[in-house]
Amino acid sequence: TEACLAEIEGADALGAFAHKTPDKALEMARAADARIKAGDATAMTGIPLGIKDLFCTQGVDSQAASRILEGFRPEYESTVTRQLFEAGAVMLGKLNMDEFAMGSSNETSVYGNAVNPWKVDDRALTPGGSSGGSAAAVSADLCLAATGTDTGGSIRQPAAFTGITGLKPTYGRVSRWGIIAFASSLDQAGPMTKDVRDAAIMLQAMAGHDPMDSTSADLAVPDFEAMLTGDIKGKTIGIPREYRMEGMPQEIEDLWAEGRKMLEDAGAKIVDISLPHTKYALPTYYVIAPAEASSNLARYDGVRYGRRAELGQGDGIVDMYEKTRAEGFGPEVQRRVMVGTYVLSAGFYDAYYNRARKVRTLIKRDFEEAFAQGVDAILTPATPSAAFGLGEMQNADPVQMYLNDVFTVTVNLAGLPGISVPTGLDKSGLPLGLQLIGRPWEEGDLLNTAYALE
Ligand code: GLN
Repeated sequence: TEACLAEIEGADALGAFAHKTPDKALEMARAADARIKAGDATAMTGIPLGIKDLFCTQGVDSQAASRILEGFRPEYESTVTRQLFEAGAVMLGKLNMDEFAMGSSNETSVYGNAVNPWKVDDRALTPGGSSGGSAAAVSADLCLAATGTDTGGSIRQPAAFTGITGLKPTYGRVSRWGIIAFASSLDQAGPMTKDVRDAAIMLQAMAGHDPMDSTSADLAVPDFEAMLTGDIKGKTIGIPREYRMEGMPQEIEDLWAEGRKMLEDAGAKIVDISLPHTKYALPTYYVIAPAEASSNLARYDGVRYGRRAELGQGDGIVDMYEKTRAEGFGPEVQRRVMVGTYVLSAGFYDAYYNRARKVRTLIKRDFEEAFAQGVDAILTPATPSAAFGLGEMQNADPVQMYLNDVFTVTVNLAGLPGISVPTGLDKSGLPLGLQLIGRPWEEGDLLNTAYALE
């Protein structure tokens, strides 16, 4: 913990930590020491972690990187952080992210962007998003691991951009209680770690049924680490042809082919599969996620949480809502709230929202069919490119940014587990990742397949 705190002090330029909690960290580390001495340690005891700012941490700023939650210090602890702390993990502080987890570059944050510790020449690169601070912190050794959340790729894309491992569990494996909601039917928390073994250990501590989250599954949590045998003989890995996008860079193609070969050499059988509704995934996601976001974000009204706008003489309650929300939400969040409100409005509900829900079912069925044909896991690229330059997309059409999620959103729409594993470098020396998608609740198997890719 002391070593991490020293690293963090020297790494302000990365912008990874939004709120540092060194005193709390040392206190937690001392308690962990005592626990280790008493012979009462778990694998997480004394492990210094960074926590994404989206998690409510009791008495500690939890702002979702938004101006509207400035000064919000929750009265309660999220289930995930509570479980991690009960296992003995140490919190170093809260990590930067895109505002309300909306973004793919960490540039929508009220704190300013986090920076990728990987560099080409002097070009400052994005660590990805929305869990950009988590990815930057783990990659730069500011912490041993971090929590992330993934609604459409926010764990897997930043993991790929920074050369670390990121796992999005099956929807319902990890409690969402106390995690500031973005799109409730898609959000899942997961570990962002240096390797697959750490991901297995950390998921173990994060997962489990929680009566406070009615969508959390009442299933036993297996010993994920014990399932890392490296043996994948006889497993069937599907390669979905629809993920071979037009204009995909050659190095992504090559990486994908290399991953396929590694799994084959390890004894897996590789089969070509079809997921025919893939092309509808992005538009479906960008209807459903904003719809749910517009509803979830309605609670920020200047009354209950965080910041209230300065009011003038004669301002009424509606003025307060309007001024607070206009000042408190950044442009990307406002765009999502507007899109979401529009697709849920009486005249457009059937044309957009209901249609998106139907297509979501078709996307889910594509995967079910592949699994029914005996596929154990699906191999795809994690991202369509390596990390891009900070500021590079800022003036682009927002849809350009949304294209980053092309390989990841299907997994959230279908509720499946997905992992991004660092598997190579592009020609300029930047990390690239491959994604493995697993059967529901089979994170143990998925981690073991990922282990063979490491
Ligand atoms: N980049 C996607 C978005 O902006 C995904 C974000 C996430 O997974 N939280 O919605």
